[in-house]
Amino acid sequence: MNKKKRILILGAGFGGLELSSRLSEALPDQVEITLIDKNEGFIFGFSKFDLMLGQSTRPEVTYFYRDISKPSVDFRQETVVSIDPEQRRVITDKQTYETDVLVVALGAEYSIDATPGFAEDGHEFYSFEGAIALHDVLEEFKSGKLVIGILGQPFKCPPAPCEAAILLDEWFDKRGLRRDIDISVVSQWGVPIPPSPDGTKTILETFNDRGLKFVSEHVITSLDPSRKVAICSDGQEIPYDLFLGIPVHRVPAVVEEAGLSEDDWIPVDDKNLATKFPGVYAVGDVTSAPTPKSGVFAESAARAVAEHLIWEITGEGKPTPFDGKGSCYVEFGDGLVGRMDADFFPGTRPTAPFAAPSNLVADEKKEFAAVRRKRWIEG
Ligand SMILES: Cc1cc2nc3c(=O)[nH]c(=O)nc-3n(C[C@H](O)[C@H](O)[C@H](O)COP(=O)(O)OP(=O)(O)OC[C@H]3O[C@@H](n4cnc5c(N)ncnc54)[C@H](O)[C@@H]3O)c2cc1C
Repeated sequence: MNKKKRILILGAGFGGLELSSRLSEALPDQVEITLIDKNEGFIFGFSKFDLMLGQSTRPEVTYFYRDISKPSVDFRQETVVSIDPEQRRVITDKQTYETDVLVVALGAEYSIDATPGFAEDGHEFYSFEGAIALHDVLEEFKSGKLVIGILGQPFKCPPAPCEAAILLDEWFDKRGLRRDIDISVVSQWGVPIPPSPDGTKTILETFNDRGLKFVSEHVITSLDPSRKVAICSDGQEIPYDLFLGIPVHRVPAVVEEAGLSEDDWIPVDDKNLATKFPGVYAVGDVTSAPTPKSGVFAESAARAVAEHLIWEITGEGKPTPFDGKGSCYVEFGDGLVGRMDADFFPGTRPTAPFAAPSNLVADEKKEFAAVRRKRWIEG
């Protein structure tokens, strides 16, 4: 009998969960999958809005890994402390692993210190802890200028800063405070979503209707907490009373120390997400794949790696290369959700046709989450 292929997946986020599910479903008797994450469960990025607004608690939005019941998938809650990509050897806080195939799906981390003044006087909703802590700050904020500033590129889920502004407009309005609060999004881009003219138009119309401001082509480089101003690269100053920053993103330190990243992210083959190290792949936000840093692209990358590995192991089924496609949902307030069907096919100009905000798309987003819960966790 052939020995089972050992597959070690680091990170049980969008990419890691999708990959482990696909391999488990396709080759339950031919693979031995070990899935490692430091956390106890998965939380969708969009649930950070609920945490920030106090609409859900962390346990309510967590899919606990202890509930994973997929054939041949062994989940371990451990922290990866070192990766040797040449030997395909990984050390965690608990043990050492050697593997036939290694997949790095550790996502992106935040570099708060990259923006001077941000740690002292800024807040963020991009981490779970940040979103939860921000809720108390929002509860205390009664009037003044609230600035949502994008501090670096690339950043996760490009529509998220505008979604946050719309949801905050609604939240403060319900509390009768909106008229005393000025909300703006400060972006390095000229428009909210460059590849989606229709999506951009609808966001800007919504901003106009709700009295929100989109300040384009401003690169915030630091905050001066003593004067409560954000300072831009051209010296312009943007006053704030409450500053919410989209932090500069980076690979986890363990990835950098492993020598896997070059020019900030892990370079991968556009088609099958292979790294330059034999038997080592990388998917999702941790890579420099030519797609935005969003869960749906991590998922389509995982699909491409799964097909490639299935073909390598069985010699059957022609793998479809990474297609760079993904549908992103965008919150518009009042329970309405729009959808961008983004196509970042490697080597072509990105496009993202837009489905207008509706209750129907809002239901589709709920279904999107439910389907993944079932596929990734329940088996
Ligand atoms: C506010 C907000 C809204 C968003 N909305 C959407 C949306 O609507 N649609 C969408 O597609 N995307 C959305 N995103 C983006 C999405 O969350 C990410 O792009 C996606 O999770 C990336 O998937 P990934 O698998 O690459 O990494 P992740 O899902 O981040 O997974 C990485 C995993 O690695 C683990 N890890 C990291 N370091 C270690 C270590 N040393 N040891 C062990 N484990 C480790 C982490 O705990 C994590 O579970 C949103 C993001 C934000 C912030």
